[in-house]
Amino acid sequence: MTVGNKLSARDKRWLEIREEKWRAYEECGHPFPVDVVGIETVGSCNRACGYCPVSVHPKRQGRLSTEVVEAFFDQLADLGFEKKIVFHFYNEPMLEKRLNHFVKYAAEKMPRAIKWLSTNGDLLDKESLIRLIDDGASAIKVSSHDAETFERFQELHQALESEYAEKLLIRDFYKVGDGTKARKITNRGGSIDLSAYGDDVTLEAAKTGCGRVEFYVDYLGNVHPCCMDFNGGYILGNILESTIIDIWNVSKNQYREHFFGSYTKDVCLKCAGLSSAKAEGAAALATVLGEG
Ligand code: SF4
Repeated sequence: MTVGNKLSARDKRWLEIREEKWRAYEECGHPFPVDVVGIETVGSCNRACGYCPVSVHPKRQGRLSTEVVEAFFDQLADLGFEKKIVFHFYNEPMLEKRLNHFVKYAAEKMPRAIKWLSTNGDLLDKESLIRLIDDGASAIKVSSHDAETFERFQELHQALESEYAEKLLIRDFYKVGDGTKARKITNRGGSIDLSAYGDDVTLEAAKTGCGRVEFYVDYLGNVHPCCMDFNGGYILGNILESTIIDIWNVSKNQYREHFFGSYTKDVCLKCAGLSSAKAEGAAALATVLGEG
């Protein structure tokens, strides 16, 4: 228990929360107790923001077939999935011409799940926003990467009827690095160099574990355990080859590792900003937890 005794009060509280959450997963009896499922049906984005790996890596081009995406939602529905579904990984969802169809399909199959859209807003206007909500989107979050976009959506928000306005969320992402500490960013598993932004705006996964139980499918069908894995260093399977439940069943022990900070993957070590010495401490901590 030596490592545990060195924990700060904050770390100890985080560990308690993670332990409670993990116990809940184990005891809930759900076959697929994942918090967030993401699917990028197309790979591309129309922007190249400096704090996103899309800006410095080769273009991601390609898409999943309609049959594959529908089969994915069918499987999720059969598993009784009722949590959060998002339509992004590193793509811009509004570039997807089939987006309304997929939102509607997911909504019909999983009416209780949250169908969440995150967009840079460039291709979103009042009409398309209303149509997406009418088709079943539970929320549309606009990440404003410039002040103009932020203002445009503030105005749109005011002009919308309340049933639509309450589903439009506007994030002032353009404030990243503006000195107000308004927005924090991550190094996306080490896939983007954020040294220009300074430590005060960058986030790291905690040494007590990142606590993520997510299931993100990229445009090639690869499954990643979180949205940070831009470089694909932590692939759990591929939906073109295996079912969701098969991928989950063979990988759930891996989730436990990053959940509690026993970081074994390069992407996790870089995400957490851990030096090898700190990583040893984190691994020792995870052992303590395993014993607990
Ligand atoms: S530690 Fe690993 S699993 Fe957790 S957020 Fe970072 S890259 Fe994802």
